[in-house]
Amino acid sequence: METEGGGTSLATRLELESYEIGITLGTGSFGRVRIAKEKKTGKYVAVKILKKAEIIKMKQVDHIMNENNILASIDHPFIISMDGFTQDDKHLYLVIEFVRGGEMFTYLRGIGKFDAKQAQFYSSQVASMFEYLHSKNIIYRDLKPENILIDHLGYLKLTDFGFAKIVESRTYTLCGTPEYLAPEMLLNKGHGKPVDWWTFGILLYEMIAGIDPFSDEDPMLIYQKILKGKVKFPRSFDKNAKSLVKHLLQADLAKRYGNLKRGVKDIKGHRFYNGLNWTQLLKKEIDPPYIPPTKGEGDTGCFSPYPDSDSETPAVKESEDPFLEW
Ligand code: AMP
Repeated sequence: METEGGGTSLATRLELESYEIGITLGTGSFGRVRIAKEKKTGKYVAVKILKKAEIIKMKQVDHIMNENNILASIDHPFIISMDGFTQDDKHLYLVIEFVRGGEMFTYLRGIGKFDAKQAQFYSSQVASMFEYLHSKNIIYRDLKPENILIDHLGYLKLTDFGFAKIVESRTYTLCGTPEYLAPEMLLNKGHGKPVDWWTFGILLYEMIAGIDPFSDEDPMLIYQKILKGKVKFPRSFDKNAKSLVKHLLQADLAKRYGNLKRGVKDIKGHRFYNGLNWTQLLKKEIDPPYIPPTKGEGDTGCFSPYPDSDSETPAVKESEDPFLEW
């Protein structure tokens, strides 16, 4: 069952006046993310600014309320933390931790691909994130290198919970009919945790090959390739990683790693992770392969510049504002 998102927000209420808002770090579906400084403490944060009118028009009110509530209820070293939220008649403002190392996407495209050791370090953190989220019955559904940030230490932080959803574990069916499941995943309509493990397989492939396993300019052809399920591995692809990716990119849910009797243990115990100390990883005691070159707390040098002019946003009438009493 999906959460309703309504009722009262779980997030702490903040005052917009407490922040000095700075430049844009990135853009998403309903607005942009800007750096900001808390006036009193000098602490830097990221503010996700969402356009209310746009959210209402696209019928995403529940989704956004979900995102807010999920972010407010989670606490994990590799997942973005949220300070709280505020609003005015035009916007919602989600105040989250500022992660200054930039997107993993930018770093990956810059160096082309990761070697096996590096892919082990990063992908193991993604496995930890999903292990945690799934234990709280949250499916993430939107894994991609753009949504993974690198902190100043070189460890990952998952951001953007716009597609995340709380599902009751009982609605999660282990033995679905595979023919129906692949299109659901593709269209991001899957309602089960296995969707996340599929995307994990795609990400691991992309980290090591530098390209997606099912790529084409035409989305219809991507769709066909996914349904066909044939994954081509470059010759240089790490053998252990290849084995793990094959176990993850299984259209048949009864065979997909992460979804079997042993759950995430099949992934964490796979030989690709041999030599990795998972306890040290969670404590951030392993030396990261790359430390972002940031100069202090508010440095935005790892983010690509965005044009800052924003078109005029219409205000939402009080009587039509679903967030007002939230
Ligand atoms: P989102 O709308 O959440 O997908 O965020 C859009 C973009 O804003 C991301 O791809 C990042 O480039 C940037 N961003 C989001 N959250 C943060 C954050 N907490 N710290 C720094 N940059 C962020």
